[in-house]
Amino acid sequence: MPRPIEALVHADALAANLAVARGAVAGARVWAVVKANAYGHGIGNVYAALKGADGFALLDPAEAELLRDLGWRGPILLLEGCFGPRDLDTCSRLNLWHTVHHEAQIDWLAAHKTGQPQHVFLKCNSGMNRLGFAPAAYRGAWLRLDALPQVRGITLMTHLANADALDPASIDASLAAFEAATAELPGERSICNSAAALRFGARLAASAGDWVRPGILLYGSSPDYPAHSADDWGLAPTMSLRAEVIAVQTLAAGASVGYGSSFTAPQEMRIGVVACGYADGYPRVAPGGNERGAPVLLDGVRTRIVGRVSMDMITVDLTPVPEAQVGSVATLWGVADNGAVLSIDEVAHAAGTVGYELMCARAPRVPVRVVGLR
Ligand SMILES: *Cc1c(COP(=O)(O)O)cnc(C)c1O
Repeated sequence: MPRPIEALVHADALAANLAVARGAVAGARVWAVVKANAYGHGIGNVYAALKGADGFALLDPAEAELLRDLGWRGPILLLEGCFGPRDLDTCSRLNLWHTVHHEAQIDWLAAHKTGQPQHVFLKCNSGMNRLGFAPAAYRGAWLRLDALPQVRGITLMTHLANADALDPASIDASLAAFEAATAELPGERSICNSAAALRFGARLAASAGDWVRPGILLYGSSPDYPAHSADDWGLAPTMSLRAEVIAVQTLAAGASVGYGSSFTAPQEMRIGVVACGYADGYPRVAPGGNERGAPVLLDGVRTRIVGRVSMDMITVDLTPVPEAQVGSVATLWGVADNGAVLSIDEVAHAAGTVGYELMCARAPRVPVRVVGLR
C-alpha cells in the first residue's frame, strides 16, 4: 500500500473560480496563470478545467512546451520573458508571447532571425522595482520595439506592488505611473493580478480591462486574506491535502509529544499521528504548542495540531473526535469527505505565511488525484 497521503485537485472548483475571474473585470480576456506548475497543482492536472481561459501565462519555457504537448493552441505568455537569446527560438517554434522588461531582451530580439514576427508584452515598472522599464524609459523602449521587424504587436503591461493592501488607494500611485508612461501609446493593456481584479476590477474595466492575469484566485485562495476570505470572494478550494492517521497514542497528563516536547498534555488525551510532514509541503513552522495549534480536520471535524511538525508526521488532538482511529483521514487543508472546509488561507495564516506558499510547496512525493470534471 502506498503511503496514505494525497492531494486532491478539484477540477469543478477550478472552472468555477475561472468564471469568477471572468466576471471580475468586464470584457477582459483572461490569462490563467499556471506558473510554478500551476501553483503546485500540476499543469497537467488543471489544464482540462482551465482551458476555457483565453490564454495561459507562466515563466518556464519547458512548462510552455508541456502546454503545447497537452494540445493548447491558443496564446501562451512568458511572464518574465526570455532568459537568454536562445529562448527566442523556443518562442518562434512554440508561438509564445513574451514579456520584455529589460534592454538586453530588446537587443536579443533585434538580433533574432525568424520568419514570423512575435507578440510582446512591454513591462512598465510602476513601483514594484523588480522587473520593468522605469516610466521615463518606457516610451523609448516601446519605440525601439515598434521599429523592429521581429515584433508584430506590443501590449502595455505592469504588475502592481500593492493591489492586496488594505488601503483602498493602494494602487493609485502605481496606476498613475503606468498611465503617465503609456500616455498616447497605442495597444492593449494588462494590469490586474488576482487582488487587483477582485478589488478594483470594476474601476479598472474601462482603462485596463484588455487582459487580466489571475493566479491565486483560480486556486481558491484569497489574495487579501484575512481582510477577505475565499468565501467572501466566492472562491472554492481547488486543492485538498489529505493523509491518514497511522498511529494513535494516549498521552498521560503531563506527557509531551514530538521533538522538543513543545506540547504537554494538560490531562489524559488521545492524539493521532498523521502521515504528513514538512517533506510533503506542510509548513514546519505551523504552531502546535499548548497555547495555540494550527487547525486541521480529522474525519471532517475541526481540531488542532499538537507538538512540532516533523519531516514525515504531524500529531493532532483527537479530543473532539473520540471515535478516530488508525485509518481516519486528516484534511490538512481543503475539503473533507463530509463537506467541511478548512481554508488553506487559515492554515497559512496560522503558520505566518500565505496560501500561495503552501500550495506551491506540495512536494512531488505527494501524489495528485483529479476529482470532479474530466
Ligand atoms: C504571478 C503573477 C500574476 C498572478 O498573481 P496572483 O497574485 O497569483 O493573481 C500576475 N502577473 C504576474 C506578472 C505574475 O508574475
